[in-house]
Amino acid sequence: MNELAQQVAVVTGAGRGIGQAIALQLAAAGADIAGVDLQPESCAETVAKVQALGRRAWAFGANVADAASVTAAAEQILAAAGKVDILVNNAGITRDGLLMRMSEADWDAVLDVNLKGTFLFTKAFTRSFLKQQSGRIINIASVIGLIGNAGQCNYGASKAGVIGFTKSAARELASRGITVNAIAPGFIETAMTAKISPEARAALLKQIPLGSLGQPADVAGAVLFLAGPAGRYLTGQVLSVDGGMAM
Ligand code: NAP
Repeated sequence: MNELAQQVAVVTGAGRGIGQAIALQLAAAGADIAGVDLQPESCAETVAKVQALGRRAWAFGANVADAASVTAAAEQILAAAGKVDILVNNAGITRDGLLMRMSEADWDAVLDVNLKGTFLFTKAFTRSFLKQQSGRIINIASVIGLIGNAGQCNYGASKAGVIGFTKSAARELASRGITVNAIAPGFIETAMTAKISPEARAALLKQIPLGSLGQPADVAGAVLFLAGPAGRYLTGQVLSVDGGMAM
């Protein structure tokens, strides 16, 4: 089903993990994809896979935490694709540590990429969304932004911030036909969670009613729902994709 035919989606952090799965599911539904990563080469595999699905695809390099870099990338994306219909703010990092030992640099890095990056990329495309009187903005938050986690004060604050940002932007842009929603994944099998020790993983599984970690495609399915016709009447929402961790 080509429910996103003729649409262009921008996905940050599209080179691997959840971002790549999002890019591929949106492309499978008909969308052309502009993937953004720190280095454009990181998106090469995603671009090849999207093109193999018969869609247009581009790779752009940008640091989502850097305003000048984001502005330049947004201009390049609009020039290449002609328009943008869907923005998925997915790029994110962790720098875990106990509060007492957390450095200012680790706090700043996580807030800059996860929260400021979401602000900068959303701002960069807002004029274009307003002009076309439509747009779907989907921000990847986290269950940690809802329920917290020891050792992740910086990450939890950044993702709670993403949720607050999502709700305020949703109220600001709703009258212009633009929706803004967040997805709060639980623990998903990617490079980000590969570092979890076997002991911590066993403890974690006890907190997940559905009894397993999620897959990147589980998050991508929720993005497709919010980006497609079924998501028309939702805005300012946080959709948990977490096996029931937060309810
Ligand atoms: P991942 O495998 O570590 O991938 C992160 C992606 O973001 C990479 O492509 C990375 O590019 C890119 N990125 C990082 N910093 C960037 C920057 N400053 N500018 C541009 N791109 C940048 O992570 P993931 O697990 O797929 O996570 C994706 C999103 O889901 C994140 O927002 C994360 O917080 C969220 N999330 C993940 C989980 C989970 O369990 N995995 C759970 C809840 C929420 P490089 O390859 O260049 O580093």
